[in-house]
Amino acid sequence: MAWENGNKPHTTSKERERILSRDDYRCQISGPRCTGVATEVDHIDNSRNSNYWRDANKRAVCSACHKAETQREAAEARAVRKARGLFPVERHPGLV
Ligand SMILES: [Zn+2]
Repeated sequence: MAWENGNKPHTTSKERERILSRDDYRCQISGPRCTGVATEVDHIDNSRNSNYWRDANKRAVCSACHKAETQREAAEARAVRKARGLFPVERHPGLV
């Protein structure tokens, strides 16, 4: 799937089943395009801290909400990288 980005999947199918059944196969986001039926697992906090792989950081989501959430997170991540100055920025000529 596209959100896996060609890398190894974030969650194994066994993990996914565990989270989906924990959340009763109901989407935990309920966004505007929500189908209600969760088929995927989303990481709530994507900052890759020590909590990243914990079940508490995962939730069952439907594909529509997951897509919307992934796009929102990608936009946020770009904004954070920009704010941290990781993109090449020309040094201000007035600074020594
Ligand atoms: Zn949903």
